[in-house]
Amino acid sequence: MCVDKGRGGLGVADLERRNCSLLGKWWFRLGDGVEGLWKRILWEKYYGGRKEADITSVVNWNMSGVWKDIMGLGRGSERLDAMLGKGFQWKVGNGSCVDFWHDKWVGDKPLRILFPRWRRGCVGRGVGEEEQFRELINRVRLHKEEADTWRWIHSGDGVYSAKRAYDFLSSKCCILDEKWSRVIWASYVPSKLSVFGWRFFLNRLATKDNLCRRGVALPGGNVCCGLCHEDVEQLQHVFCHCKPVWLVWMKVLGWWGVQSALPNDVFGMVDAVVAGINGGSWTDLGPLIFLVTAWYVWFWRNLKVFGAGERFEERILDSIQSKSFFWLKNKEQGCSFSYTYWILRPLECKKAIVQHGRNLRNYKRLYASADRVQVQGAASMLL
Ligand SMILES: [Zn+2]
Repeated sequence: MCVDKGRGGLGVADLERRNCSLLGKWWFRLGDGVEGLWKRILWEKYYGGRKEADITSVVNWNMSGVWKDIMGLGRGSERLDAMLGKGFQWKVGNGSCVDFWHDKWVGDKPLRILFPRWRRGCVGRGVGEEEQFRELINRVRLHKEEADTWRWIHSGDGVYSAKRAYDFLSSKCCILDEKWSRVIWASYVPSKLSVFGWRFFLNRLATKDNLCRRGVALPGGNVCCGLCHEDVEQLQHVFCHCKPVWLVWMKVLGWWGVQSALPNDVFGMVDAVVAGINGGSWTDLGPLIFLVTAWYVWFWRNLKVFGAGERFEERILDSIQSKSFFWLKNKEQGCSFSYTYWILRPLECKKAIVQHGRNLRNYKRLYASADRVQVQGAASMLL
């Protein structure tokens, strides 16, 4: 749930990530080259005034909890705070604060890790190590007047911010391909359908196969498909291999005049349906029609499993058409055509929506440039 919407989650704020990114701000400020009383107190209290102390390795039991958390950034290997801490690097000025062997100031690791044998009295150096070492060191020039400062290596200008750090940490969490996230969160799709789509793409729907995996006892241990009773009910079968459902997809594609055959794999099929309806360029209609259809397929399956829905098969296309029109009307201002036109000429409707979007963008551009001209005119009059 805490993963970004674009990466398959629901975009709920993650408190651990937020906390790490805010702690990182303190660490960054500690080495930003600006003097401060709070820094002097900390250096005196914990490091006896030695600025050159390797702060990442000095975390004692007698430190305050908050300070331990801040200095804990960069320790460990898998945790979020470790990922964050590794993004800090010294930007060398006069070199007075940088520990030559222990700090990260040239290359992507401290020199003690890049050249472990050099530190132990230059015994048994590897072939070519000397050239590598010289080449690395020669990259850095000392500047007498400049203080050493921290650089945040994950931003172009080297400046750390809590938001950038949060985004960086969030970028490491991904549970769903970006392509499917785009389908789920398309603008015409209402939120209840987005949640359904999210469960669909993560295979979290309560199919009998998934229920068995979760240890739910099914009546008579029956795991057969509720629609055709011919195979095990799992995502791939219900939405792709099941014969009555296959016919529904064919009817929907026929409504949109799409002739292509569908792949024999559920995600390939999603791709084909969305691409077939969109036809060459991306619109949010493809995701809407796909999700409405999948939603009604699942609704139909539920009716059958719970002993109803005998005649729903005849009405499913009508339901898909009316519900998609209803949701489109609610979300799209350019939807000025009638329901009959939507059923009979969906491609013309799509053209009207695309044209309306284009007109709207042109209007906004014209409006903005007219505004600029007015402002310039007013400015020249004042001058
Ligand atoms: Zn089936």
